[in-house]
Amino acid sequence: MRKKERTEAILRRLHELYPETQCTLDIDDNVFHLVVRAVLSAQCTDVRVNEVTKVLFEKYPEYTDFLSAGEEEIGRIIKPCGFWKAKSHYLYEIARMMRDDFGGEIPKTQDELMRFPGVGRKVANLIVSEMFGIPAVVVDTHCMRVSGRLGLSSGKDPAVIEKELMKILPEEEWAAFGHRMVDHGRAVCTARSPKCSDCALSEYCPSSGKKV
Ligand code: SF4
Repeated sequence: MRKKERTEAILRRLHELYPETQCTLDIDDNVFHLVVRAVLSAQCTDVRVNEVTKVLFEKYPEYTDFLSAGEEEIGRIIKPCGFWKAKSHYLYEIARMMRDDFGGEIPKTQDELMRFPGVGRKVANLIVSEMFGIPAVVVDTHCMRVSGRLGLSSGKDPAVIEKELMKILPEEEWAAFGHRMVDHGRAVCTARSPKCSDCALSEYCPSSGKKV
C-alpha cells in the first residue's frame, strides 16, 4: 500500500475510533483561560489542570485580576500543577505583556504568542487552532510517538514532525489529528507497552508487534 493510501486509511480508522475527539483541556470563550491552562499543563495532567483552573478562574477570571493578585497568590492556587514558582511567574508575565504590549488581548499569530514565557510552538498552535480557527498541528509527546510508530513522521524534533504531518494530512484534519494521536496514545499506543494486538491500526502500522 502506498503512503498516501495508508495515510488515508489511518485517518478513516481514527475517525471511526475517536469520532468526537477534542482537546482534553477545558475550553471556554476566554482565550486567556486556554493560554493559562496550556502553560500549566507542562509536566501536569490535563485533569489536574482543569480542576485547579476551575478554582483559579472563579477567584481571578480576567488577566487584570492576575495582575492585582500577584505572582505569590497565583502560585498558591496553582501549586498542585507543579513547578508553581516558574509557572506563576510565566502567568503573571503573560498578563503584564497583554496589558503592556498587546492592548489587553491575546495575539492571534504563533510568532506573537511565542513571545509569552512558557509558550512554545505546541501551545501557540493549540491556541490558534482552538480559539482562532487557524489550522495547525499540535505536536505533543503522544503525537510524536504515535505518528512516528505509524510511519507518518520520522523526525525527533516537533517542528520537523509538524511540517511532515502538514505535508501529508489535509488541512481540515490538522487540529483533530493531534487530538486523535493523544486519544490513541493514551488508550492503545502507550509509551512503554503499546497494545498492538488490540490496535485497530495495526494492519497499517510498520511498528506493529515490534519492541519499543
Ligand atoms: S500497531 Fe502498535 S505501534 Fe502501531 S499504532 Fe497500534 S499500538 Fe501503536
